[in-house]
Amino acid sequence: MPSFHDEDAPNAGISSTAWHPPPPPSIVVPKIEVTEELLRALPKTDLHCHLDGSMRLKTILELAQKQGVKLPADTEEGLGKAIHKGEICKDLEDYLVAFDVTCSVLQTEEALYRAAYELGVDASAEGVRYLEVRYAPVLHQARGLKLTHIIDSVLEGLRAAKHETRIKYGVILCGIRHMSPETSLRLAELCVAYKNRGVVGFDLAGAEANFPAKEHRQAFQLILKNNVNCTAHAGEAYGPESIGQALHYLGAHRIGHGVRLREDGDLLNYVNDHRIPLECCPSSNVQTRAVDDMKTHPLKFYFDYGLRVTINTDNRLITDTTVSREYLIAHQQLGLSLEDLTTIMVSGFKSAFLPFREKQDLLRAVNTEIDSTLRAFEKKSLAK
Ligand SMILES: [Zn+2]
Repeated sequence: MPSFHDEDAPNAGISSTAWHPPPPPSIVVPKIEVTEELLRALPKTDLHCHLDGSMRLKTILELAQKQGVKLPADTEEGLGKAIHKGEICKDLEDYLVAFDVTCSVLQTEEALYRAAYELGVDASAEGVRYLEVRYAPVLHQARGLKLTHIIDSVLEGLRAAKHETRIKYGVILCGIRHMSPETSLRLAELCVAYKNRGVVGFDLAGAEANFPAKEHRQAFQLILKNNVNCTAHAGEAYGPESIGQALHYLGAHRIGHGVRLREDGDLLNYVNDHRIPLECCPSSNVQTRAVDDMKTHPLKFYFDYGLRVTINTDNRLITDTTVSREYLIAHQQLGLSLEDLTTIMVSGFKSAFLPFREKQDLLRAVNTEIDSTLRAFEKKSLAK
């Protein structure tokens, strides 16, 4: 009988060879300057993007006027200030106040259609090839809209954006932590009904502290039983135990943020070993004070350690950002190289809530596009 000592165990110890993330196949990354122009041209995903946090300011003002809704300000500048656009907030709760403003004008089918359409167009314009838009349908019922009409309006808006720009999309419906578990269950039922009809996943959003994920496990059980993808906001405003609950009680396939995962090495390794993607949103984390400042954001540590990280916007309007800008920040402030960034771009497509075969086709096209874009920018830089 062979005897195994600890050091003989298959997974014991740490390899003496340093781990390096493999570059996407067949892509040789040239030494060129990383500019916002280059990052906008490269194909990207945005997997964590809230509809109600990503509207155009002008649209909010126009919708409010049309609907007779009173806003805290009637100019783009004033409204931007009122919703803390791009400013650091006191905490997550302070940050969430902006959604009262945006949701006040998102109570008609026309408004939901427009917000979804414009988001698809805006994302496409900065090189997003695949967009997952998330929102909580229950927040759009203040004027009595039916949940089905809300979902249909958003899907139609995105369909129109796809028709015009060829952007691929999927919708994630959100349950809200501070609402009742019954509400989450109702939303999960809708998610199941709309599976393969534009809705690709379920999420749990809202204030993390005092509202544990496990309360909503019945909703997630329905989701999992029906083979629907799911993710959950966790480890943003609360510790790693929140991430543990999202994974082990809810069965989350991805984690939204996961900033505080670094506090629990064991869970960190679990997430790494199971290739569970993290939906990182660096600027949003600074704005909500989930991290002290950008320099202390764990994105680079996670990437260097081998975790499957993706870069996303969270809320394009409230955080005043785009995916391209988040990539630029990751390069300029966190020190990720162009090779690192292209690896993360590919990880975004790998982590999409898409059927595997469709994903493979998309990945092939994306690899070719990354390669040709890099070559074109290399040529341009040599000609200078
Ligand atoms: Zn979010």
